[in-house]
Amino acid sequence: MTTASNRVRASLPITAAIVLSGVALASEGPSPTASVNRLKAGNARFVANPAEPLPIDAEHRAAAAKGQAPFAGILSCTDSRVPPEVVFHTGLGDLFVVRSAAQVTDQSVLASLEHAVDTLHVPLIVVMGHEACDIVTSTGASTGGHAAAGAPKTPDSHGDGGETGHGSGHGAPSPAGHGTGHAAGVSGSNREYLASRIRPAVSRTASMPPDVRLRAAILENVEEQINQLLTGSGLLRRKAEAGELAFVGAYYELTSGSVHFSEIVKVAPVGVATLERH
Ligand SMILES: [Zn+2]
Repeated sequence: MTTASNRVRASLPITAAIVLSGVALASEGPSPTASVNRLKAGNARFVANPAEPLPIDAEHRAAAAKGQAPFAGILSCTDSRVPPEVVFHTGLGDLFVVRSAAQVTDQSVLASLEHAVDTLHVPLIVVMGHEACDIVTSTGASTGGHAAAGAPKTPDSHGDGGETGHGSGHGAPSPAGHGTGHAAGVSGSNREYLASRIRPAVSRTASMPPDVRLRAAILENVEEQINQLLTGSGLLRRKAEAGELAFVGAYYELTSGSVHFSEIVKVAPVGVATLERH
């Protein structure tokens, strides 16, 4: 699906860019900026007063039944402690949320977000990792303890078909590739597939000190998944290149409830994604 000529590799120093001071967005047009600011405001309400009711009463429900115009798309982990609508204090119809373990991108995720952007005109996609993601942790352990202990990777019995796909710059995997790469009906094959999608990020942080390695791997995986969206979907990439769509990375802290945003991802028409610094 993705060829060498149309691959992009975003250079997103998200580890450094996700900072307490947040992000200044000034040049992508008002819609993405407004969406980020609205998410920040909602998260601030959640942090300050988690018990404040969400706008999900009957009146909001009736209004939402007439149609939807979500102001942002969120790709986030399935972790039970990280519900985007809650941590951003949003109501019915506000967010187009796609969740997968460790916010891994695959063909269904891409199609879902393409629908959000192309049909619902969502101007912003947030890819959000979170503190203490146990999917990333377990991937590190299964990869020889990269995220957990930093030991060198050792081959496992499942092989590295998925990781090989990553390393060669594949975009989203095809269902056929998924189905034929592992024995159908083997319970471990699905989880191995998931791990294979996370290993590139885990591997890139393997040499970091143990006390920062997991967080770094989680942030690296956010960057990895943004790149997967850009490489796996021509539609998303074109929209980004045209300035009609913006991406940001985010990191949710379980303990504080705060979401920290990266700077906005700018995608140049030549297909090279860069971070705009302010
Ligand atoms: Zn997680």
